[in-house]
Amino acid sequence: MPEQAPNLCSTGVVLVLDHDTAELVAIPTHCHRWDCELCGRVRLSKARAQAAAGKPERIITLTTRPRPGLSIPCAVRWMRGRWTALLRRLRRNYPRLEYMAFLELHKSGWPHLHILTRGCYVPQRQLSAWWLKLTGSFKVHIQAVDHTWKAINEATKYCLKTARQVNDACPELPVYTMSKGWLPPEWKEGDRPAGDRTCYAYAPMPWPEALELCEALDVHVEPRANSPGHFTLQHDGPLRAGSTSLSYDHGSYAEKCFVAALDLYFADPAKAHRDPVELRDRHEYASALDLHFQEKPSSYTTHDKAQLDLDRAGAGQGSQQIPMFIGSGAPCPF
Ligand SMILES: [Zn+2]
Repeated sequence: MPEQAPNLCSTGVVLVLDHDTAELVAIPTHCHRWDCELCGRVRLSKARAQAAAGKPERIITLTTRPRPGLSIPCAVRWMRGRWTALLRRLRRNYPRLEYMAFLELHKSGWPHLHILTRGCYVPQRQLSAWWLKLTGSFKVHIQAVDHTWKAINEATKYCLKTARQVNDACPELPVYTMSKGWLPPEWKEGDRPAGDRTCYAYAPMPWPEALELCEALDVHVEPRANSPGHFTLQHDGPLRAGSTSLSYDHGSYAEKCFVAALDLYFADPAKAHRDPVELRDRHEYASALDLHFQEKPSSYTTHDKAQLDLDRAGAGQGSQQIPMFIGSGAPCPF
């Protein structure tokens, strides 16, 4: 058995066809939530890496007098609005200015901003005058960055805590933003592994459960050397009917999704790469009625988030039509 996926919050498994190596790859999805012990830290380290990649030259701290009686979301929205207004003036006068701005909540719950900048020198007096006009406060602090990580530590010291507080109150409000030119171009290219891939199927099940199923089906699971958290699935020839029938007859919805996808794939891997839709149609499984009547989740769950991520990437078609997802041919979001 391979080691478990690094994120234990995994609530779904995406199966991907890697056309370069002609392999079936399993990728456990993660919840990506700030309030998840693991994902929160991953997100924070990504933000810090982005901050470093932008090579900050100055750090600006903008504070305002608290306005009592505002809830956290209202206070955060107000602060973001003021920052956007200031940014408009900055952009007009200093078009080469790039920034990455971190929101931070004070103990009282009132927000302020730490902004890493690069490109232009903005005189403190000028900035202070604008900030006074916009907010009634003149407290603006600018410091040259002589040690990158020291500045990033200062900007992100309470980022995770703030993100959890803000996210709890208002999930759609970002806790940090950056200008389009903040990241160097090569950063964006490195975001996704290279190669030609398509999504093959999605099963809404925790990774350990998927591993158990693979063991029961005699499918070999191998961690991929160059992609941490990705696993190659291998099996010699088609799956034995005897090993899949239990899942088809008595398995959960997720189990059926997973086993059917493996079944289709290993029936003829070469054909799966060429024409997965035809393979799908050969199996009555895909048209089984009960699969289309899944109850809608009553509240926002980690699985929804994982599913949303897939949907946003144009790969998923909603959890109620997951069988249709097999061979949808959409580009892989991972
Ligand atoms: Zn998580």
